[in-house]
Amino acid sequence: MSAEIIDGKALAATFRGQIAEEVSQLKNEKNIIPHLTAVLVGDDPASAVYVRNKQRACEKAGIQSTLKRLPAETSEAELISIVESLNADPGVHGILVQLPLPGHIKETAILDVVNPLKDVDAFHPENVGLIVQGRPRYLPCTPYGIQQMILSTKMETAGKHAVILGRSEIVGKPMAMLLIQRGLGADATVTICHSRTQNLNKIVKTADIIIAAIGKPEFVTAEMVKPGAIVIDVGINRVDDRLVGDVDFEGVKEVASAITPVPGGVGPMTIAMLLKNTLTAARIQSDSN
Ligand code: NDP
Repeated sequence: MSAEIIDGKALAATFRGQIAEEVSQLKNEKNIIPHLTAVLVGDDPASAVYVRNKQRACEKAGIQSTLKRLPAETSEAELISIVESLNADPGVHGILVQLPLPGHIKETAILDVVNPLKDVDAFHPENVGLIVQGRPRYLPCTPYGIQQMILSTKMETAGKHAVILGRSEIVGKPMAMLLIQRGLGADATVTICHSRTQNLNKIVKTADIIIAAIGKPEFVTAEMVKPGAIVIDVGINRVDDRLVGDVDFEGVKEVASAITPVPGGVGPMTIAMLLKNTLTAARIQSDSN
């Protein structure tokens, strides 16, 4: 039997509708309109598309969005000073620095200066620390979206073996933290694999939940997947002008119990969770004033 396709687009639309309602409530009750400012340095076309999609989604949900576009030659010091001015602006609730930054700018030098209350990507060390301690302020958008997709399958995750492929700071590592948390949609036993992992295929084959985030087209094949597993495909790879994930969708869908497509899976949920975090940021900041 073919797997359930987890429709990220539809799930994201449901979240976005709910967020739009809450945004309008916040405006009516407190006269606050959540405001996200995105900072885009340089002219990487993929980054420009991601930022545009995020801005459009904000506008549709009634969230104000501003784009600060800076030339590729912007220095680290200049960028720090721009982030500091956004930190100091009470009208800005969320700051998103689009990655990757040009090579001469150290990403951590920038992410570390974002006010943790405005850090809607949850990349600041304070927010990462809160996640590790199981008392998150914000959840990073991609893992947060994946958590919601897994919850949507109604599969019991407690005690199940989740194998994450990839140990990046933005996907693999925080994903592991969410899946091992006590309680809602978690309590899994987690293994993280990376490029130095030995016997990777064997490990993946024991997984009840597979999260592929390595950026290698169709790396996960049907032979690697235990029948009935949930397979979440985070990868976005351009192959012959076509977008493909890290999972061989056609083969794996015949073995898995549920699977996310690319496109239309994790991507739209990542954006929906960014909106959710921006709304939360506006609420937190209005409560602390
Ligand atoms: P990174 O490049 O930062 O990390 C890739 C990870 O995969 C690394 O930990 C690397 O290991 C590991 N890896 C690479 N090759 C292999 C291999 N052959 N076997 C095992 N592990 C391997 O990627 P990101 O986490 O930023 O992104 C991963 C993918 O997800 C990309 O395709 C990206 O475009 C996509 N993405 C999609 C998002 C969405 O919203 N849909 C959001 C973010 C990312 P090592 O550490 O040892 O080098």
